[in-house]
Amino acid sequence: MLSNLQPQAPDSILMLIEEFKADTRQGKIDLGVGVYKDPQGVTPVMRAVKAAERRIWDTQTTKAYTGLAGEPEYRNAMARMVLKDVPGDRLASLATVGGTGAIRQALELARLANPGATVFVSNPTWPNHLSIMKFMGLPFVEYRYFDAETRGVDFDGLKADIARAGKGDIVLLHGCCHNPTGANLTMEQWEEVAAILEQSGAIPLIDLAYQGFGDGLEEDAAATRMIAARLPEALIAASCSKNFGIYRERTGILFALAENTAARDLAQGSMAFLNRQNYSFPPDHGARIVSTILSDESLRADWAAELEEIRGTMLGLRSQLASELRDLSGSDRFDFIGRHRGMFSRLGATPEQVAKLKSDAAIYMVGDSRLNIAGLNRDTVPVLARAIIDAGI
Ligand code: PMP
Repeated sequence: MLSNLQPQAPDSILMLIEEFKADTRQGKIDLGVGVYKDPQGVTPVMRAVKAAERRIWDTQTTKAYTGLAGEPEYRNAMARMVLKDVPGDRLASLATVGGTGAIRQALELARLANPGATVFVSNPTWPNHLSIMKFMGLPFVEYRYFDAETRGVDFDGLKADIARAGKGDIVLLHGCCHNPTGANLTMEQWEEVAAILEQSGAIPLIDLAYQGFGDGLEEDAAATRMIAARLPEALIAASCSKNFGIYRERTGILFALAENTAARDLAQGSMAFLNRQNYSFPPDHGARIVSTILSDESLRADWAAELEEIRGTMLGLRSQLASELRDLSGSDRFDFIGRHRGMFSRLGATPEQVAKLKSDAAIYMVGDSRLNIAGLNRDTVPVLARAIIDAGI
């Protein structure tokens, strides 16, 4: 039986990691995988996470199963963090296996509710969105997003394309820190998107994987909160991997905002059912770390402060890179790097130029020219800037 299997296409980012490891050149720079690294190249365990784990170790008396939808403490704390004003009578929530699990369950829920739904996704988007939808056999179409000229958002293209989504279709939006481009909508543009969805009855599915990595914890959730306040229905898939630095704990959450309490109850039941069918109970350790931090004033303050340090480091690297490139190119054509937000920027280089960075300068980035800003430090920024110019980008 097993010999009937077809080889699966390898994940291009994971392949890049292997290639980087095998490169023996001194001074090689990894700007590939989407993980935060501090200036020493370490992905740290955050202070508050360590403290919460210690507390859990001290006080936890059982490892018995949690609820199918996860612990209410976690779901409530996350609802407050993401939405602030929680419409409790309309909100269903589900602890999931990371943000990826939340997206998968959101798409499963959408298919259960409306088997004919088409999903609208940004071009480009996080490749796993496409891969999951293909695997599920969900129909999807891309909407214009990245303006190759300005390296900002092609907002007219986006509006025209998402206006084609009909009632009950899903429009997948990155709540902040768009992956892979780093280009984001302004709040005014988000309002226009909300108006289009309001008009058509298409349902937003907001992927919020980087809250706190862009303009701040509150600022990065502002668009999601506005959509939740304005539209009758929305799906929100949030990840704690980046902002709590607990990647391997697999901690995420799906919120479904329903039109009324009866629909909320239906959604809650179907969401728990989906966990049951896929892996039964969701993982608890990461969720417990998060709820321990969010419910304790001093842990929360320390976590928020460290998250701000991380965000500040990335912003500092962005402005340093933009300014080095301004000097070297004698132009402002790289200023978009300073305007982008989150861990990534799409440079807008050709695959050949990306290959040249690798072969000539041992600088690794994803083939579509997405670079992870957090892979840099103050010393490697000038090296990258020089290499970008030398590669003719
Ligand atoms: N959405 C986006 C846009 C992401 O970049 C990621 C992480 N790479 C995720 C969702 C999911 O993250 P995780 O499953 O690790 O929580």
